[in-house]
Amino acid sequence: MKLILLGPPGSGKGTVSEKLEKDLNLLHISAGELLREEVQKKTTIGKDIKEYIDRGELVPNKFVVEMVKLEVKNKDNYILDGFPRSIEQAKEIEDLGITLVIYLEVPEKIVIERFAGRRVCKEGTHGYHIKYLPPKKEGICDQDGSPLVQRKDDKPEVIKERFRIYHQETQPLIDYYTKKSILKKVDGALAPEIVYTAVKKVVKKSLSR
Ligand code: AMP
Repeated sequence: MKLILLGPPGSGKGTVSEKLEKDLNLLHISAGELLREEVQKKTTIGKDIKEYIDRGELVPNKFVVEMVKLEVKNKDNYILDGFPRSIEQAKEIEDLGITLVIYLEVPEKIVIERFAGRRVCKEGTHGYHIKYLPPKKEGICDQDGSPLVQRKDDKPEVIKERFRIYHQETQPLIDYYTKKSILKKVDGALAPEIVYTAVKKVVKKSLSR
């Protein structure tokens, strides 16, 4: 299964991926996560990348595409979360033979509300929401015990820019993959458990074919 999760910022791609990874043994590859890891290393490339992320812009393809391609090399079971984010990027991975694309459909109004409560653990890998997906112990990651923080690019000004880019660059992928007959829509506006159940059903159906 080579799965792409598509959706606006805050649509729950990361949350769904984390669960699918555990449940169905699919490797979760988050483009944003790979980029943030590079930033943490404080390399020259990392410093460049940080500026794009902090502004809410797409990091140039020369940094992202090879990074993701390296992760998926020789693998058959994975979830691409946040990649591709443009038609150009989709064309770069044409040869991978993507099995399924799930589009998490969430109205912008709802995702904007979600952002205020969104938290991520300091390790940067596990996502929460103070109201909709709280940790067992307030402010602490259930999985690695690190403190929960708000992502710098989850601030209102940056979110606005991320949405602008999403509409301009990423949304055309919905049509692109619909035409290839591999896109399935899931209502991502519901509670996290309900969204996840619906996603899992679609993935299992595809796996059984
Ligand atoms: P995410 O964690 O998916 O919300 O991504 C956070 C940020 O990382 C985005 O706002 C972009 O700046 C950058 N990013 C993530 N994925 C990509 C991608 N496929 N292409 C370019 N930039 C990306």
